[in-house]
Amino acid sequence: MGFWKNWKGKEHFRTITYHRKLVRQYCFRVGLYRQGLMHDLSKYSPTEFLVGARYFQGDRSPNNAEREAKGYSSSWLHHKGRNKHHFEYWIDYTLKPGEILGGMKMPVHFVVEMFMDRIAACKVYQKENYTDASPWLYHKQSRRVHTLMHPDSLRLLERLLKMLAVRGEEETFAYVRKILRDDRHRRLQAFLHRNEIRKKR
Ligand SMILES: [Zn+2]
Repeated sequence: MGFWKNWKGKEHFRTITYHRKLVRQYCFRVGLYRQGLMHDLSKYSPTEFLVGARYFQGDRSPNNAEREAKGYSSSWLHHKGRNKHHFEYWIDYTLKPGEILGGMKMPVHFVVEMFMDRIAACKVYQKENYTDASPWLYHKQSRRVHTLMHPDSLRLLERLLKMLAVRGEEETFAYVRKILRDDRHRRLQAFLHRNEIRKKR
């Protein structure tokens, strides 16, 4: 049967589990525990897992193979709708005249998770050829991100990727912890401010 002929369930399971482990370790290093634990869990759902096992590639995403075969990737549509670390999750109708769909600004902690996802994906696919510059070099080629992602979120992602390439993990992760701290503080202040205003009414 065609379906079972290409079945690579075990390999696919190992790949996603290893990828999740790397992302978890990176997220934990910057204090994103919940996101580290929850990262890409939907890949174990039947909709995503069956496609991954059927179109397993080893050196690139199985979604591309599904796209070539079917004209669209059901697995990816399922994935991006549930995982906020993908900028595609944040694509929505814009209020700008002349524009229909566009990338909304992403919360800082999801841009950070996206950054960790890039590092882990590059490590899984490039193995011993991986260096701190790999995620940045890979990013420069992806046109989709540049045209669709919100400019502020893209700027932050690129700052992190470049910093990693030049200064390495230690220094970059210390910087990430700092921007996450500042962002938490800012959100708390905004929340308190909103409630203050509401009380006065
Ligand atoms: Zn993901």
